Parts: sequence; structure tokens; C-alpha cells
Amino acid sequence: MHQFQILQPWIPHILTAIKKEIKNEHLPSAPAFHRTYFGSRPLNRLTTEELFQAYEKELSTGNQELCEWVISRWVFKHGDLYEHFAKRLSELNPNFEEIRQITEAQAEYILDGAAQAFGPINLYLFSILNGVVFPEVILTRLKEQADAAQKASACTAAKAQCVQQQIDERFMREALKEAKKAYAKDEVPVGAVLVHAGEIIARGHNQVELLQDATAHAEMLCITSAASAIGNWRLEEMTLYTTLEPCAMCAGALLASRVQRVVWAAPDLRLGANGSWVDLFALKHPMHKVSITGHVLEEEAAALMKSFFQEKRERAVVD
Ligand SMILES: [Zn+2]
Repeated sequence: MHQFQILQPWIPHILTAIKKEIKNEHLPSAPAFHRTYFGSRPLNRLTTEELFQAYEKELSTGNQELCEWVISRWVFKHGDLYEHFAKRLSELNPNFEEIRQITEAQAEYILDGAAQAFGPINLYLFSILNGVVFPEVILTRLKEQADAAQKASACTAAKAQCVQQQIDERFMREALKEAKKAYAKDEVPVGAVLVHAGEIIARGHNQVELLQDATAHAEMLCITSAASAIGNWRLEEMTLYTTLEPCAMCAGALLASRVQRVVWAAPDLRLGANGSWVDLFALKHPMHKVSITGHVLEEEAAALMKSFFQEKRERAVVD
């Protein structure tokens, strides 16, 4: 198999490792190269995904310019591995640049302790890329260890995501409690809580009817009460949980108050400002970025809204 094809499954790993160093001057300077792979996108803004797509595109065309560039950046970055290999190889042969093929025993000597020091994935990749041919049996073992490490890290990521989901659901239940308070007062049932360092520092539910104020949305009340509680309008490092996708007004207030993250439950098809009607969070802002998670406990929040409006309609018929 061609080296670049062997490496293909590891390209996301490689690209992630070199991503920070990607600058215009590192890529081949031919304009045709840029046009072919990236169109008019500035290179320092490229995502790993875009580079990966370009890499796959190149593999299918049979060119190697981009592949070679990506690999050489990665090898360059791993000077520590190069030093390790050079040191052990030079013990086998002082002119180690001449070594092409090594025996199993020699490979074992070179690799001894290296997986712990550099990680099994990096070790496997470097063993393919260092120019010395390792015995097949050794490469197979290194690949198995790298695969196992890859799987383990995917598991850790999945676990972290699972923990975050549990936290989100816990606080969304608190927001739902607020929504039910609104429901009981004949207000559109929307509730919100603002969380800082794992603690709820403000709660709010929709009070538009009670206050006869179109701005008395759950999120707005939450933001105001949190700011007065902490004596600071900047709500950095805080997460707002709301049972309904924020409207344009609330989205604006969330951006202005620098809330770090917004978690919402049900979409608001008429007024939602996170994609249902407009998406105010999708536009890049130079200073502030809000991270968003939608559809957390969506069914419960949507059922609450549905039953509220159904009840209202039924009452209107009776009246
Ligand atoms: Zn709103």
C-alpha cells in the first residue's frame, strides 16, 4: 500500500497536531495549489475538516503535494521522536542515515520505552515515516497499539460528553420547574436558570402578562437578577439554560452580557434566534463567542408549551 494511503486514517490526528502551525508561508506557494484545494479561503482560517477534505481530494487525484506538505510538517514537529530514533539507530550504525532495513531485535531495541515516552500513535506514525523499514510483524504490533490508543481516547471523549449531557439535563430540569411556575400563572411556560461554577445563581420565568411587559422573558429576568446579585453586568463563564430557543431580544442580551454558553430545550419556530427564524449566534463576533447546545430535554419543554396553548384554545371555545 502507498504510504499516504496507510496514513489516511491518521490524518485527522496529524492535522490536529499541526493545525496551530499552519501559516501561509508553510504551504507550497503556487497559486494553482491554493485554488485547487482551498479556493479563496485564507489558509490561516482553514479548519481541520477542510484540510482533511483537501487531503482526500488529493489522494483521489493521485497528486502528492499536499500530502507531502502535511506529513513533513508533522515530522518536523516531532523532533523529540527524531532524536530518539537517531540516537538508537546510531548505536547500531554510526552512519545511521545509511540504514534502510532493520531486524526484529534491532527494532525492539529502538522502540523500547518509546511508546510510554511519545504515545503509541505518534510512535507508530513515526515508525512508518522515519525512512527505515521496520519488520512487518513489528509494524503490525505498533498499529494495534495505536488503534487501541485511538479507541481509548474516543471513549474518553464520549464519556466527557456523556457527563456534560447529564449536567445539562440536571439544570434544564430546574429551568423546566421555572417554566411550570409560569404555566401556573397563565403565562407562556418558559423558564430559565443561570449557572456559574455548577451553582444556580439566578432563576426566571416568563412574566410578560403579569408585568404587561414584552421584554419580561425568562432569559431577560435571569440576566438582570444575576447581574444585580453579583454586582457585575458581565456574566462571563456562565451558562444560561432556557426551555425555549432564545428570541432575537434575548439573544442580543445574552451576547451583550457575555454569557459563555447557552443551552435551550425546544425550538421556537416563530421567533427563535438560533436558526428557527434567524441565527444571531452563527455570525462571527470579533470579541465574543457564545457556545450553544440545543434540544436538551426538548420533548418535555415542547409538551409543556403544547398543552398550554391547547388549554388556552379550549378555554377560548368554552368562553
Ligand atoms: Zn426572549
